[in-house]
Amino acid sequence: MSGIKRILVTGGAGFLGSHLCERLVAEGHDVICVDNFFTSQKSNVAHLLDQRNFELIRHDITHPIFLEVDEVYNLACPAAPGHYQYNPIKTMKTSVMGAINMLGLAKRCRAKVLQASTSEIYGDPEVHPQVESYRGSVNPIGLRACYDEGKRAAETLFVDYHRMNKVNVRIVRIFNTYGPRMHPYDGRVVSNFIRQALAGEDITMFGDGSQTRSFCYRDDLVEAIIRMMNGPDDFIGPVNIGNQGEFTIRELAELVIELTGAKSRIVSRPLPADDPTRRRPDVTLAREKLGWQPKVNLRDGLAETIKWFRSIRLDDYRAPTPNY
Ligand code: NAD
Ligand code: UDP
Repeated sequence: MSGIKRILVTGGAGFLGSHLCERLVAEGHDVICVDNFFTSQKSNVAHLLDQRNFELIRHDITHPIFLEVDEVYNLACPAAPGHYQYNPIKTMKTSVMGAINMLGLAKRCRAKVLQASTSEIYGDPEVHPQVESYRGSVNPIGLRACYDEGKRAAETLFVDYHRMNKVNVRIVRIFNTYGPRMHPYDGRVVSNFIRQALAGEDITMFGDGSQTRSFCYRDDLVEAIIRMMNGPDDFIGPVNIGNQGEFTIRELAELVIELTGAKSRIVSRPLPADDPTRRRPDVTLAREKLGWQPKVNLRDGLAETIKWFRSIRLDDYRAPTPNY
């Protein structure tokens, strides 16, 4: 049998999805990208459209879709807080109904299906760094709940389809990932800070900037999820994927100013509700099971990202929501 597979990537026109599609197309697989373009645009995959092994379908995964594939990477879901809070009911539907539809498709086709879960399932964690066995501390009625609880419910569906219907599943818990092709108006901290610095605007640090995050470069992430998909069937996860370097948001702002050479000031803005105080993955499991560990440090990854932000025209990007 040839190693060529038919692979569906939901959310394939998004930041991570477009890089994943690019890599899978380059490996020669038949790739179907499904996206409703809520937080992305066709330009992210325009360069793939004339490849014979790439297909683009505009579709919303809250509705069933019938395709014949060997593997599904389920990435469709708004990921930035401003995007997922714009229509929280839709966010929950995308996670839950989208998971049911993709699991049903995988069951029918006997395909493998990977869920892009998130560090947000740990909420504002009391265990640090976060290990997969930690069950999390999520406010079920807070502003982030539509995303956090939606992703938690999706994990439940994945393991139940696995236990009950023997669907071949994988779950990765992705920690903050950044890089070229992030939507410049997604409101996430890396894109906001770089956009603001390059425009010479104030850098909007929420709260006192002492909250921490660990930032993973997109190439490391794409490598990890492909390894997870191709890993042994008895390792379904969940597995943490992220970079272990931990930075305060103030440190990130200072680094962006240094790397852009901007004259921007750092200004404090109110901290959003339920903003996690600290976040860092324990990636021991990924190292042991997938032989994976991140290679790109924050300084180098930011330099690449800044280069890309300098190369784009902001006018080409539509802000998906007013929340940025
Ligand atoms: P993104 O917003 O760039 O990509 C999400 C894509 O899904 C977009 O193209 C969007 O249009 C599409 N989409 C949204 N709802 C849809 C629907 N109902 N039907 C079809 N398409 C839909 O975000 P991203 O950073 O590339 O995130 C990709 C996945 O990874 C998401 O599931 C996200 O939750 C997960 N994730 C990302 C990060 C990160 O830091 N980037 C962290 C944790 C988890
Ligand atoms: N943040 C900030 N300024 C911004 C955007 C975000 O200080 O302009 C902070 C935010 O409050 C959070 C961290 O940066 O503490 C990461 O935010 P992001 O939205 O990127 O992702 P999160 O990890 O919170 O989902």
